[in-house]
Amino acid sequence: MNTIKLSNTVNFSTIISSHNKKLMRTNTTISDRTCNCPNKLKPNCPLDGKCLAKNIIYKTTVTSNKDTPVNYIGLSSITFKERLGNHNHSFKSKEKSNFTELSKYIWKLYEKGATYNIIWSILHNDCRAPHSTTMVFRFDAPT
Ligand SMILES: [Zn+2]
Repeated sequence: MNTIKLSNTVNFSTIISSHNKKLMRTNTTISDRTCNCPNKLKPNCPLDGKCLAKNIIYKTTVTSNKDTPVNYIGLSSITFKERLGNHNHSFKSKEKSNFTELSKYIWKLYEKGATYNIIWSILHNDCRAPHSTTMVFRFDAPT
């Protein structure tokens, strides 16, 4: 009876310990990653290898054949990639066309039959920093 108990304890603690090791490894991997684009697509990462950045202020530059280049400033507390997914959805789905000033603009371009290109870049790495709020307001309107 005692032997059985002991053996159970040992097995259990071994499982926990290997489980913890696995968790630690996973955490390290996640925090070290700045981009989760597939290897083949990494050169085309929408944010130049930083698509997993969070809490950033980003700049969107839209160039088209029907207008001068237009900049929009956005703030993302979720990863940029998730934010980008929302933006892309709003460019495709008519019901979401009022999602942001950017999507309203893109839909205006569609109405004009324009072809356009979008470049995303990081303006500020931490939107929680006090001075960055001013920056958002200063740049909020299309320039
Ligand atoms: Zn990426």
